[in-house]
Amino acid sequence: MTSKRERFFSAIEHLPVLCPVCRDRLRREGDNLSCDGGHILNVNRKGYIHTLGRKATSMYDGDLFDARRTVLSSGAYQGVVEAIDGLIPMETRRILDAGCGDGWWLYQILQRHRDMTGAGCDLSRDGIEKATDWETPAVWALSDLRNLPFDDGCFDTVLNILSPAAYQEFERVLSRDGRLIKVYPRENYLREIREAMGVSPYLDGQVEEYLEEKMEVTGKKRVLETVPVTPEQALAFVQMSPLCHDLKPLEKEDVARKIQGRITIDLEVAAAKRKSGQ
Ligand SMILES: [Zn+2]
Repeated sequence: MTSKRERFFSAIEHLPVLCPVCRDRLRREGDNLSCDGGHILNVNRKGYIHTLGRKATSMYDGDLFDARRTVLSSGAYQGVVEAIDGLIPMETRRILDAGCGDGWWLYQILQRHRDMTGAGCDLSRDGIEKATDWETPAVWALSDLRNLPFDDGCFDTVLNILSPAAYQEFERVLSRDGRLIKVYPRENYLREIREAMGVSPYLDGQVEEYLEEKMEVTGKKRVLETVPVTPEQALAFVQMSPLCHDLKPLEKEDVARKIQGRITIDLEVAAAKRKSGQ
């Protein structure tokens, strides 16, 4: 079995990492990476690098990622994976998931495309540590999306799934004809949870408006389906939802019961490129 650290080193053969201090290319030196300027970046035993330059803080903790894993592996998001896959440019060799969480989405894509090299960045330490469990070579980094440790133009595809965006930085790391694939909610997304909590429908539009302001949308696919869920999966959906963040455990169970065995997925999958002339 390949160690997590070796998986990291095998990925950077195809996808060099930049020094967070001087932006020079880093190369392997034992268990570390180093640049010509003498800066050293450790690749830890868990198989990721930390380029934040400060302590990682995040509202997302381990429990939330356990719920998230239950939800994602329930099969409810399979249609979304298909839609993403359909929008990834054929020539993609390097792919970044910006805001990768526990790496589930990136792993689904890498499983389908063994010729691609993947990178996943997130602000959550729990997320990145879970991501390194996937048995695939990938560069996992605890990094700020606004300051990615990668060279200009080095990705053919950047994924940004249910996560805040950093368009300027995404454009910097995208190749000339590269695509950003952004996934964002539509008004029926997790409708059953909203109804059970008595909150108004999700107001969409802002995310899309902002995307269209920054980049040129080249393709879109909306995934709208209501899928069956077990009581355990229903509870995991509730635990994962920011809407239910402040509820007590018993209140979460109550909301999960009200879902009545089904949940609606309503997500837009949009591909976008640099605006011409930029
Ligand atoms: Zn350096």
